[in-house]
Amino acid sequence: MRTPLVAANWKMNGSREFAEQFFAGLDLGGATAEVAICPPFPYLPLVGEKLKGLGVALGAQNLSRETSGAFTGEVSAEMLQDIGARYAIVGHSERRSLYGESSELVAGKFIAAQAAGLVPILCVGETLEEREEERTLAVIGSQIEAVIDAAGPGIWNRAVVAYEPVWAIGTGKTATPEQAQQVHEFIRGQLGEAGAAVQILYGGSVKSGNAETLFAQPDIDGALVGGASLDAEEFAQICRAA
Ligand code: PGA
Repeated sequence: MRTPLVAANWKMNGSREFAEQFFAGLDLGGATAEVAICPPFPYLPLVGEKLKGLGVALGAQNLSRETSGAFTGEVSAEMLQDIGARYAIVGHSERRSLYGESSELVAGKFIAAQAAGLVPILCVGETLEEREEERTLAVIGSQIEAVIDAAGPGIWNRAVVAYEPVWAIGTGKTATPEQAQQVHEFIRGQLGEAGAAVQILYGGSVKSGNAETLFAQPDIDGALVGGASLDAEEFAQICRAA
């Protein structure tokens, strides 16, 4: 019923040369999932050109909650929409922890993205400490609640959610398929009536070697891929597994 989505989060990696080589080596033959690539801001137009004809969507890793004006260094949703982006990641744990983004700010970015016609990819996830204290579902529930409080309940028909346990990001540790499924099912329940149709992605050390068992879970609809998305062959294999 739900088409899987595999989204590449290049984070602060790459160059023009890297992008040229990546697309020269990218063969998505055999992949039926939706695919998106989220490069750093300066490479959005270049990657957007490369994606033409590939059936792959363009996404940004972040955006401003403001629409325009005196906000030095910020990039608005409308600008992203203007250069052809379809998605914007909001609330990635690196933004929350390294740049102090609160759930309220994340909700503002979610609203700004939707208002400009972008599809926000809302990231949620617990830290290791929170998991060990058995607060995983409470933390994720409150991260989702903050968005619903600010934006209202009818927002999920144009949104993607990514469950990314913080302890699994870039660490080589993946949640077991069962651990991930439990959280995905919980998230779907939090989304209300629209929940059944929302793509809920898993993120955190997804690789070609673990993608298939994760994607076999009933509520895992694809992945947000960091490290492994920098290798075209590895990324294509993950796309084929979805
Ligand atoms: P990772 O990153 O695949 O390198 O763990 C995932 C993410 O942060 O989106």
